[in-house]
Amino acid sequence: MLLRIGYGWDSHEFKAGIPLKIGGVGLAHPKGLGGHSDGDVLLHALTDALLGAVAAPDIGSLFPPSDPKWKGADSAVFLREALNRVRTAGYAVVNVDCTLILAAPKIGPHATAIREYVAELLGVPIDCVGLKAKTPEGLNTDNAAIANAVVLLEKKR
Ligand code: MG
Repeated sequence: MLLRIGYGWDSHEFKAGIPLKIGGVGLAHPKGLGGHSDGDVLLHALTDALLGAVAAPDIGSLFPPSDPKWKGADSAVFLREALNRVRTAGYAVVNVDCTLILAAPKIGPHATAIREYVAELLGVPIDCVGLKAKTPEGLNTDNAAIANAVVLLEKKR
């Protein structure tokens, strides 16, 4: 196959008094995202999208929350492992596109920093990383952050 597509989704609950990290970037906010690792909802969705594109096991199977090794882990570690699997399978990332759904904080002012960091992690130009943020109108999920991600891969020549 010349092309493959992958899709990932994740959600994490906001908790008071912990740092907020989205797409590897620390954001000033009174609450952070809970979870066994650093709770980076965007990197988790991207990791699952990469893994799904090559039909690899999902993030929870590769990095079980029950394993103390991943407590407080930098989610970039998960993304790098997913990228290794993509490369081992003979593919390269063409582009990724992501949507965040959260009531606060506003992502707009940080979007470029997040896209830059994700592009660096993936080894693609910044114009190959799309990022939108929406507020959760009518969803009653104001205390959660949700991330959707799709990736396109192409067979390496
Ligand atoms: Mg997660």
